Amino acid sequence: MSFYVFGNWKMNKTIQETGEYAREFREKVKDSEQSAFCIFPPALVAYQLVEGFKSTQVSWGGQNCYFKDSGAFTGENSPALLSEMGASYCLVGHSERRHVFLEPDEFMGQKVKALQDCGVTPVLCVGETIDDRKWGRTNDVITRQLKSGLSQVDFSKPVFVAYEPVWAIGTGEVATIEQVAEVHNHLRDILMELSQDSGPSTPILYGGSVKAANCAGLAKLKEVNGFLVGGASLKVDDLLDIYRNSVG
Ligand code: PEP
Repeated sequence: MSFYVFGNWKMNKTIQETGEYAREFREKVKDSEQSAFCIFPPALVAYQLVEGFKSTQVSWGGQNCYFKDSGAFTGENSPALLSEMGASYCLVGHSERRHVFLEPDEFMGQKVKALQDCGVTPVLCVGETIDDRKWGRTNDVITRQLKSGLSQVDFSKPVFVAYEPVWAIGTGEVATIEQVAEVHNHLRDILMELSQDSGPSTPILYGGSVKAANCAGLAKLKEVNGFLVGGASLKVDDLLDIYRNSVG
């Protein structure tokens, strides 16, 4: 399986900074490395990102979408429009959507279906809070989020899963190799239970304070197929070092 490095910019970067990032990326990242990367920009700079990465093999994706293609849904992103703009992926259920914007579990299954219907690959994010972990609820939470997120999935089309413990996102506290191995193995077991054909090859990414300095050990785990990187994706050198330290 390929190794993926996905960069979530969250609500960062201006139009000018997006153009500069793309220019620097094109200079520094070899053609043979480019297809490992996907950038998730704020929707308002997606056009500049697409222009900047034209004629590269870098993908881009939405940070969020609604589960309808159009209608009276003020402020939401349409899956159909993401597809029309050439997005390859879209995050679903990122921790900040679940915990800051209080999106319910039952939205996620509908978003996964809406994206697949438009030919955009959903990246379903799951993860426990620090209280869930302290009280031994990690596997229950992960199982519930995975199964509800994949309740309407079509396994004949691509879908990605990202394990992102809420307590590790943006905190500088990365999960240990043992913690990541345990959850990724659990996710793999459920995926194989849900689909014997696709479960073994559904990519599972880890996210949560990944940096060049802490990624090599995690990348060696069999069930870690890539990283979803927030803060460290904002600088080209940092993102590139994560990729090179992971595959090198
Ligand atoms: C994220 O936004 O998905 C993320 C993992 O952020 P960070 O790498 O900053 O923890």
